[in-house]
Amino acid sequence: MAPREIRVRARGKINLGLGILGKRPDGYHEVESVAVLVGLADDVAVRAVPHGIEVRCPGVPGPPEENLAFKAGQAVLQRFRAPFGLHISISKRLPVGGGMGGASADAAAVLKAAWMLLGEPAPRETLTEIACTLGADVPMFLPEDVTQEGQVAAFLLRGRGDEVVAVRSPELPEIYFVLVLMNFPVSTAWAYARWDEMFARRHPADGRTTNFADSRIPLIVEALKTGDARILGSSVFNDLEKPVATDFPLIHEVKRVLRQAGALGAVMTGSGSTVAGIVIDPSHGLRVCREFRRIWAGERAQRLEKSSSLPVRPGIKELVLVGRSRVLGRCAVS
Ligand code: ATP
Repeated sequence: MAPREIRVRARGKINLGLGILGKRPDGYHEVESVAVLVGLADDVAVRAVPHGIEVRCPGVPGPPEENLAFKAGQAVLQRFRAPFGLHISISKRLPVGGGMGGASADAAAVLKAAWMLLGEPAPRETLTEIACTLGADVPMFLPEDVTQEGQVAAFLLRGRGDEVVAVRSPELPEIYFVLVLMNFPVSTAWAYARWDEMFARRHPADGRTTNFADSRIPLIVEALKTGDARILGSSVFNDLEKPVATDFPLIHEVKRVLRQAGALGAVMTGSGSTVAGIVIDPSHGLRVCREFRRIWAGERAQRLEKSSSLPVRPGIKELVLVGRSRVLGRCAVS
């Protein structure tokens, strides 16, 4: 009999609001953010092998032991003293260094799969504990079940991004985005260092209140619960955009063209490089994609004249139209 294999779709996230409140004495940044999971996902397949951990993950640079999926496998096997090893195979669809949290999503998928292979040896909360040791945002990606309070409409992240609260809603309205995937990664550490250089704001000394520093955060959460794409589009923001755009002005250009093409708003996710345009429904999304391509092609000649000091000219890889759980369309951009 073939060994049992568990397959998990590791969906990526997009931050619709990301505020940086300041740098803390411990060197981390105090943030407040609202994020959602979307339909673009890596496929993660995990099966038991006699011993060791093997990771196949084409497209991710570096040795397998440095893959966060490997570390997740190691952590879960150690915790439960598993009598077997793991073979992990990942088909990457989330852009590496794209601000969609792909590494964390893959790690969470491995935790869930290994836990199932072990016959669910502990309550799910144990998985969250292990997830926290792997990275601040890993718990957010643990596949969520529907509870009596409903499904997860959004995630609120505070602290250094590790205080994650799922905002549930009895109704889960669909939301749609045109994702613009770039041909270059952005390092999160570099983006925050750039923010420090530009803004160097210290963490406010007095205690935290329950209110949000930025009034757009509750607006975004409400829009995600009601499915109001217009309010969502006019409320999205990301404090890392300015610092990242100093080296990658393409981020600002893409946002402008998305709006020109009819998107209700546009925002970079995480530390970039991916930019998301907010659209009403799939047909609106397709119109925005077509219009984007037309405008971008028209401006291309001008852009080619501008020189770039980077070895690879920053550009767009593709446009992907997504809902919360599915990819609805994709197209290349020249
Ligand atoms: P974040 O915003 O959480 O920093 P990101 O979406 O910008 O993440 P990821 O693709 O999650 O970026 O991570 C990119 C970095 O993590 C790269 O340095 C990559 O080599 C490393 N990495 C380790 N494991 C993985 C994985 N399974 N998938 C992608 N990148 C991985």
